[in-house]
Amino acid sequence: MTRKLGPPPPATSPAVSKSMKGNVAKNTHPEVRLRKLLRSAGYPGYRLHWRKAPGRPDISYPGRKIAVFVNGCFWHRCPHCLPSMPKSNEEFWQRKFALNAERDSRKVRELELAGWKVFTVWECELSDGDRALQRIIPALERPRDPAVP
Ligand SMILES: [Zn+2]
Repeated sequence: MTRKLGPPPPATSPAVSKSMKGNVAKNTHPEVRLRKLLRSAGYPGYRLHWRKAPGRPDISYPGRKIAVFVNGCFWHRCPHCLPSMPKSNEEFWQRKFALNAERDSRKVRELELAGWKVFTVWECELSDGDRALQRIIPALERPRDPAVP
């Protein structure tokens, strides 16, 4: 059902190029930043893209059934900072973003059906201190299932 769209068309303005790259230019990829925050808060035992979890979340704690997706604001259409839509190739981007959104919600649904607690952390949340971390920590305090390695 998922149709391949191919690579995105080249950015037509510096603003689009900047949103496409996200924070990469500053060498603070949001996922790396969140991992660092989790480690320094004392929760190092995560798996990355763990195959046994539905949708292979970016970060997961299998013993506690906690999954975290770290979403780039541009690609996943952040509801908080509402990145602007590229002005050209509009049809491509509409389809691309619709497919991303569909895939995102399918993964969350699959995980929740399997009893996981799912967090979505947005890139822009991570540029603003540890707000995202504060949302996740209460769940991490739940006792872990000793049967899961
Ligand atoms: Zn955002």
